[in-house]
Amino acid sequence: MTKIKAYAADNKDANLKPLEIERRETLKDDVKIDIMYCGVCHSDLHQVQNDWKNSVYPVVPGHEIIGKVLEVGAGVTKFKVGDLVGVGCLVDSCKSCSACEDNLEQFCENGATWTYNSKDKHLGGHTFGGYSESVTVNKEFVLKVPENLDPKAAAPLLCAGITTYSPLAHWGVKKGDKVGVIGLGGLGHMGIKFAHAMGAHTVMITTSPSKSEDAKKLGADAVLISKDEAQMKEHANSFDFLLNTIPVGHDMNPYAALLKRDATMVIVGAVEPLDPLHGGSLIMGRKSIAGSLIGGLKETQEMLDFCGENNVVSDIEMIDIQNINEAYDRLQKSDVKYRFVIDMKSLKNS
Ligand SMILES: [Zn+2]
Ligand SMILES: [Zn+2]
Repeated sequence: MTKIKAYAADNKDANLKPLEIERRETLKDDVKIDIMYCGVCHSDLHQVQNDWKNSVYPVVPGHEIIGKVLEVGAGVTKFKVGDLVGVGCLVDSCKSCSACEDNLEQFCENGATWTYNSKDKHLGGHTFGGYSESVTVNKEFVLKVPENLDPKAAAPLLCAGITTYSPLAHWGVKKGDKVGVIGLGGLGHMGIKFAHAMGAHTVMITTSPSKSEDAKKLGADAVLISKDEAQMKEHANSFDFLLNTIPVGHDMNPYAALLKRDATMVIVGAVEPLDPLHGGSLIMGRKSIAGSLIGGLKETQEMLDFCGENNVVSDIEMIDIQNINEAYDRLQKSDVKYRFVIDMKSLKNS
């Protein structure tokens, strides 16, 4: 085992602070990664604050990991020392259930191993995430990051990126489709970039007119202000697909009214109760509402390759690990455009 530096929260009210943690030795099928950058996802904050009632302390968050390969086990041929790689929300799964066989490890029926706050099969205890110097991960859960991408700005692709790419790909969004992205935050800004890169007519749907200019810079062709009833009426029954990134419970009825016949709205943000939905808004027009959770490893690699080809990365603000608590305060107020990324040099040099 190797002892390394990390940042952790001791309990739900605590600030994150330095903690020494252990990583396993590099096993036959393992890749040991020197962490260069780690994105700050809203889930990190939820886990630290125990919002989903499943946190185990100390929590070392971080599942948007970018780094360089430090060492590989004897059974690893796909990666070599020095490669630019990524690790997202998953570090292991059973590999034999129907979900795993379908390359949907995020839905592993025997319980996937999440990058942090999951049972650690090797060391006992629980897994520790990317707010740390290094991580050792089974080769099947390590991703190749295209070398033409800015590695800092690629970090958020590992969660925010795949969360928004997967539903657009799964529901077959294509050139010329009218796609609405609801909510402009860490997820929404990636949704706009992907829908735009896929050639869709991309509409930012937001409550705040002040976000219009930014949305257009990110690739939106138009902006629809959801509080404006006349505008909403004008766009009724016109969308081929809606990506709903609102992070909290809300009334979906006005958005369902925007869907075309047979079209789908996919929820990726709100992991909590939603307001009652009028059955008629789905029945009239055979509309669907669905959910989506990150993506499997195969699709995550496809997403990264798509980003390499289309030059898609996240808009980021770099921070040092020592400023993580301040960044959490700002994240809670949505005061970031659009993702904080931690420069892990600040941890190594501390
Ligand atoms: Zn995340
Ligand atoms: Zn499985």
